[in-house]
Amino acid sequence: MRSTGEQGIAAPDALTALFCDEALLSVFSALQLEGEETRIVGGALRDALFGRPPHEIDLATTLFPEAVITRTKAAGLRAIPTGIQHGTVTVLAGQETFEVTTLREDIETDGRHAEVRFGRDFRIDALRRDFTMNALSLAPGGRLFDYTGGLADIVARKVRFIGEPEQRIKEDYLRILRFFRFSADFGEGLLDRAGRLAAIRQREGLGQLSRERIRAELLKLFCARKAVEVCSEICGDGLLHPLLASAPNPARLRRLIAIGEGAGPAENPLLRLAALCLALPEDALRLRDRLRLSNTEAERLEAAARALIGLHGRDEPPGFHDLQALLFRHGRQAAVDAVLLAEADARPGNGGGWVLARNFLFEATEPRLPFSGADVIALGITEGRAIGEALRGLQARWIEAGFPTDPASLTRLLDEVPRRAG
Ligand code: ATP
Ligand code: MG
Repeated sequence: MRSTGEQGIAAPDALTALFCDEALLSVFSALQLEGEETRIVGGALRDALFGRPPHEIDLATTLFPEAVITRTKAAGLRAIPTGIQHGTVTVLAGQETFEVTTLREDIETDGRHAEVRFGRDFRIDALRRDFTMNALSLAPGGRLFDYTGGLADIVARKVRFIGEPEQRIKEDYLRILRFFRFSADFGEGLLDRAGRLAAIRQREGLGQLSRERIRAELLKLFCARKAVEVCSEICGDGLLHPLLASAPNPARLRRLIAIGEGAGPAENPLLRLAALCLALPEDALRLRDRLRLSNTEAERLEAAARALIGLHGRDEPPGFHDLQALLFRHGRQAAVDAVLLAEADARPGNGGGWVLARNFLFEATEPRLPFSGADVIALGITEGRAIGEALRGLQARWIEAGFPTDPASLTRLLDEVPRRAG
């Protein structure tokens, strides 16, 4: 591959359009100094070339962090030394923030941390990045620098490691997961072969990663464009199972995505995780530990799994009465999650029925038990345990009767409560 790195090439319109941003221009202007250079680097260029609006713009510069701070402040911008030891300063311009990082070169890497020193060479900075499509740089005049063949890989939708994949993975094992995630987001076809083999050979290294980092990457992977294809491939290689501590089911994720297409709920990363590997409440606890889920997240999964238990093995959607019972017992969120998962488990056929079921759950009022202990005491039942028993019986009959709310039905149910002497 011919490198366009040395002199650069004229950037396509999709990239020069980035310079229409006043805030970005003000940062460039603040950092402009004879003999120094600043460029846009990394993800923003990749995103723009794929036609996606970049969600953040990172800059690389030959200026040292202290100079970045002094110059941006002198220009009336705010500078926050967010990662000064790594050379990163966050610059606030207007409503936007830009990460400005001094060029770096690795001195030593141990798989998790890299010892770096500041450098002045954009080519070296590009070579220490992970994938060719993440290593472009763009100078303010509109010159694009591609030292690794990233442009061609973007056109071909190929996610390729820069350099020798196994070596690059050994420097930082997170790159295995980033490889999966970027392949799912931007790649076409199967995973790059050399990258995939390197990931398999180096999979033990995943054990060195913190669970928080694994969680962050996996949840992004599950929401990526080709999540199912990549998950299927890496499941086949035995790479996903150890990370989740349960046997993942990509076919179920595929069905969940098909069901939820455009409908919103299935785009939730947690629900996608559930589709991949949640069957029973204990799975939620295992996932909580594995991926350091928050209590709220783990509770959502556990509640969904509890609600799902009654729906296991059914191909037809539950009727309205059963749906109301789900709402009453588990709450709306768990009921909706469980019905989505149950549909993903069901044999396809009654798509319309499942849609009705979901719409019902979204719209119906959550039933509330219209009785309390006081109603039972008023019947003359006063002993603690007997009150509880009577209330439970009353609740069961109220559910059986179809969750009535009218006074006549409620009085009748109360009349039917068996009385005890004393
Ligand atoms: P996004 O923010 O959309 O996830 P991104 O490409 O901006 O994508 P970041 O994690 O923000 O990803 O990293 C910014 C850039 O830094 C990347 O484009 C890549 O060039 C480089 N980079 C990030 N993490 C690594 C890594 N672990 N190894 C090598 N280079 C990396
Ligand atoms: Mg980024």
